[in-house]
Amino acid sequence: MPKKPNQPEEHCSFCGRPASQAGMLAAGLTGYICADCAHQADHIFRDQRPTTPSPVFDEPIPQPHEIKEFLDQYVIGQEAAKRVLSVAVYNHYKRLRYNAQHKDTNDVEIEKSNIVMVGETGTGKTLLARTIAKLLKVPFCIADATTLTEAGYVGDDVENVLVRLLQAADYDVAAAERGIVFIDEIDKIARKSENPSITRDVSGEGVQQALLKLLEGADVNVPPEGGRKHPEQKLIKINTRNILFICGGAFDGVERAIAARLNSNLIGFKGDERRQELDRTNMLQYVQPMDLKKFGLIPELVGRFPVLTHLEPLDREALRRILTEPRNALVKQYTELFKMDGVELRFAPETLDLVVDRAVEYHLGARGLRSIMEGIMTDIMFDLPQTAKGTTYTITADMAKAKLKL
Ligand code: ADP
Repeated sequence: MPKKPNQPEEHCSFCGRPASQAGMLAAGLTGYICADCAHQADHIFRDQRPTTPSPVFDEPIPQPHEIKEFLDQYVIGQEAAKRVLSVAVYNHYKRLRYNAQHKDTNDVEIEKSNIVMVGETGTGKTLLARTIAKLLKVPFCIADATTLTEAGYVGDDVENVLVRLLQAADYDVAAAERGIVFIDEIDKIARKSENPSITRDVSGEGVQQALLKLLEGADVNVPPEGGRKHPEQKLIKINTRNILFICGGAFDGVERAIAARLNSNLIGFKGDERRQELDRTNMLQYVQPMDLKKFGLIPELVGRFPVLTHLEPLDREALRRILTEPRNALVKQYTELFKMDGVELRFAPETLDLVVDRAVEYHLGARGLRSIMEGIMTDIMFDLPQTAKGTTYTITADMAKAKLKL
């Protein structure tokens, strides 16, 4: 606020600090408020706000097959993971309702079943989680385990996962306490060997221990703005008992542990046939909790994930379908972009085959598809608007090869 030379300095009417210390002040009819006090007041009001009634309790719960049908619109393949997730989400809703209805009785308490999804990078773990979020009527957030560290070290405290959830719930604590958290790259906090470490393991075991507390169902104090807790900051208490945790990880190399276990199980069996029945190209389908322990997750944490599912590696056919079939398929997205410029875009089938070939070469699953398509399309999108309005434009394999410098 500009101040005339001899005018006395304005003060915040709440904390009393002058504008020179408190920064900009907002003026009311009879006083001023600084940003810090306004912020504080905002939190007080949020805390007092009555909890909004949740559709979780009065709308029909989507059935597992309905949830799966929804996932099918966006995610190609991954039948096993879709079925597991559909049931998990369905049960999550049912548990919330049941426990709310029976909270004052001594009836059965239905416990949650946290989930781990094991699958190579770019096979759709995060996509599944995001798609579920679209459908859900409970708050949902995605966190990355690689950014987490034990309290006191540089990085995010594990509780910050809950801050995201709280933000997703628009600071409605009761809603956050019914939410679902997806933690990506859970394999990256594995300890380096199966044996407990004597020295402190900043990025591995300590984080797992901290995470365990969240998964077990505890009252956790979180700083509403995230970041480090500091003495002046008001903390918000969140109970994690009903929060469903879904974790994803590539667990690179876990196949070796699976193979070793399966082979040793088969020793003593005459049946070499049984060994041959194993599908060596996709060992992840045989994953068991003990394999995750071998990989470096602590047994207590593994024990908190009763549901373990896997994602299939994406073969050529799946990659090809991913280009065209999902609701937000890349081909559909480019077609819409071109339509806005009055151009009808077509891809020759050989062009799409070429893109798939490249993606297979890159070993990035479907993740490679986008960058390959961008490589082909960027120049074309740069030039096209002026020249091609009102025309049909086909991307041929030769054009694609030239753009990709093949
Ligand atoms: P992950 O989490 O397994 O590493 P993502 O879910 O982030 O992989 O996938 C990366 C991108 O690849 C997604 O944005 C999506 O476009 C595409 N994708 C991956 N898997 C599938 C799938 N099964 N169906 C459709 N698209 C997929």
